[in-house]
Amino acid sequence: MSVMLPGEWVGAEVDARAVTGLGSANGQLRGEEIAIARQFQVAGGWPYALAMLGGTGLWAASLVLALAGWMPLMAAFVVSTLFCSCSYLFAHESIHHNVFPRGSRWHWLNELCGWVALLPMALPFSLARVVHVRHHAHVNDPDADPDFIDDAPTLRTAVWRSIVNRQPVGGWRESYRRACEQVGTRKAAAAARHAIALGWLYVAALMIMAWSGHALVAALVWWLPRHIGLTYGRIYLSWMPHHPRQGRQGRQERYRSTRVFHSALGDLGSSYMGYHLVHHLYPTIPLHLTKPAYHALRPILVARGVDCSAKPARGTGMDQCS
Ligand SMILES: [Zn+2]
Repeated sequence: MSVMLPGEWVGAEVDARAVTGLGSANGQLRGEEIAIARQFQVAGGWPYALAMLGGTGLWAASLVLALAGWMPLMAAFVVSTLFCSCSYLFAHESIHHNVFPRGSRWHWLNELCGWVALLPMALPFSLARVVHVRHHAHVNDPDADPDFIDDAPTLRTAVWRSIVNRQPVGGWRESYRRACEQVGTRKAAAAARHAIALGWLYVAALMIMAWSGHALVAALVWWLPRHIGLTYGRIYLSWMPHHPRQGRQGRQERYRSTRVFHSALGDLGSSYMGYHLVHHLYPTIPLHLTKPAYHALRPILVARGVDCSAKPARGTGMDQCS
């Protein structure tokens, strides 16, 4: 059995220890769960790396071509908005070492892809990893989960809160700064410095574009797509999967920390977040496998008391297991 690394959440290793402590029908169920999950714990690999590098390249090209006047502004806006809406989703795989795992000869590319994919969001990969690992370890804890600030009673208030949280004072800046302090490592302190530096570089880039007569390009091909992407991310990647933020990261509560939900935007439009529970149980399952993993694990999840009615068993069109 491998050992959980400090500050990291590696899923299956923790589960293996839990099994040994149960030694009952409960433990047998857990063993079956882990055996199924392991079938899906494979690296995303080159398709993920190419999507992240290629997507960021397209984003950068749309910005440069719009600045040069060689691409219609609205076309550049659409390209930029699309990538800004999924750049964190890609980087999230790098955060969990799911593109190329630790120990792989290509692990450096896993890290590079994370940094590159988050450039349009002006968010340093180092900070994204520190706060996200803490989110996993303290999910739904008002005092320790950096994403708890997305908590809101309704979708409308969640959208408004995501905008308020983005203002210069308080919000995510304060929450992430506090998270870095609470983690207290040199990496966390460096991540906080990276955030300040990248934030100023982003503002400087926008100002240079504006002063050189390209204010509209700066606004429509970077500033606005970034904010649309941030709003989408806070709603679909944080608020929807964890609302109403009840379960924590305990042995049993972890099944209630993330809800299974159906979105009118479908699986693709909702970035497969309806299956986000699988990710919180096993973070090393890459995004594209969370749906098949959910269906393989579904009978066990139902037995654990998870409300799976929003995602019925395959081929039934109805919730046969609940
Ligand atoms: Zn995660």
